[in-house]
Amino acid sequence: MSIPFIDLKTQYARVAGQVGQGIDAVLQSGAFVNGPDVAKLEQRLAEYTGTRYAVGCASGTDALMMALMALKVGPGDAVFCPPFTFMATAEVVALLGATPVFVDIDPVTFNMDAAQFELAVRAVEADDSALYPLPAHTGKLTPKAVIPVDLFGLLADYAAILPVAAKHGLAVVEDAAQAFGATVELDGTTRRAGSFGQIACTSFFPAKPLGCYGDGGMCFTDNPELLDLLQSIRVHGQGHDKYENVRLGITGRLDTMQAAVLLAKMDIFEDEVRLRQEVFRRYADLLGSIPGLTLPTVSAGRLSVFAQYSILAESGEHRAQLLERLKSAGVPSSIYYPVPLHLQPAFANLAYARGAMPVSENVAGRIFSIPMHPYLTTAVQGEIASALAG
Ligand SMILES: *Cc1c(COP(=O)(O)O)cnc(C)c1O
Repeated sequence: MSIPFIDLKTQYARVAGQVGQGIDAVLQSGAFVNGPDVAKLEQRLAEYTGTRYAVGCASGTDALMMALMALKVGPGDAVFCPPFTFMATAEVVALLGATPVFVDIDPVTFNMDAAQFELAVRAVEADDSALYPLPAHTGKLTPKAVIPVDLFGLLADYAAILPVAAKHGLAVVEDAAQAFGATVELDGTTRRAGSFGQIACTSFFPAKPLGCYGDGGMCFTDNPELLDLLQSIRVHGQGHDKYENVRLGITGRLDTMQAAVLLAKMDIFEDEVRLRQEVFRRYADLLGSIPGLTLPTVSAGRLSVFAQYSILAESGEHRAQLLERLKSAGVPSSIYYPVPLHLQPAFANLAYARGAMPVSENVAGRIFSIPMHPYLTTAVQGEIASALAG
């Protein structure tokens, strides 16, 4: 049997009954878009994340887009984000005419480096790229928002990032697309992904820790005014009357069938988060003695949901050897992300130089991900470990 990178089939066998019932009820109801299950899901996930309000939407990308629109991000604004992330994080910034200002990452967590974030904000305030590498040809920008990304399922360093954002008057939009279910102990309380910033965003793309069977996403906020704005932007800037449009918006609604799928999957989600910890611990045991591998670590007081299990090889050549070994053993692997966003052709207009984000560039050249999902068995993890050991 071939080894899946993410095993959605085993999960489906577990939830098939509930999912079938949920979808059938939607089919019977005829409320296919933004139906009652969407409101039910919003309430359930707001409660789960510990936020007051949730707004279901069509994808994680739309969630980010709606968040930035609600915060009135536009031309002339600088939005700080890491370059070592999925395209969508910075794409929405540029789509709104604002400028992504990249902030390099921490080499251990792969998340935004809070000290460099402050340097980048100061550089934009002073319009001085001698202080920190800035995009070219933009004119003077106004620091407006920051999008910390909870990469690979591990929460960003909010304890350090939030005070910097507050000091400089920046809005915070959490990109929790890969981290739904992740936690951190902060000031004596357990905080969940989806609860940071003015607005937090997540994705329900099938491969994410909480995935549906198509596209879906959600925004979370504690602010009633932002809730109103997000709900309006989700449906073409709708006012209180359906045919009154008070602002520009998007077609951002969530399909009711996807909400039904997610409600069924939420019943097993906490158990899956627990299973992911077991898989993580077994990998640590099995791979710990293989020389030259830097395995993911999770510091005390944190819990990662491991959207990816990402390992650093010693070099690009070493990675190529390891990937070749995995391939010949029939083990799937993937590289998240081989090219950081500041070097992507889509952002060539920002004219970032190679070397501008040294940690992201170094990590992009060495990182690779191996199978990670709640249903990985000890036996299969053993096979993967022997393949890597060579
Ligand atoms: C997947 C992802 C998104 C976008 O979510 P979609 O639902 O695919 O639009 C945004 N940011 C990050 C970090 C992601 O991994």
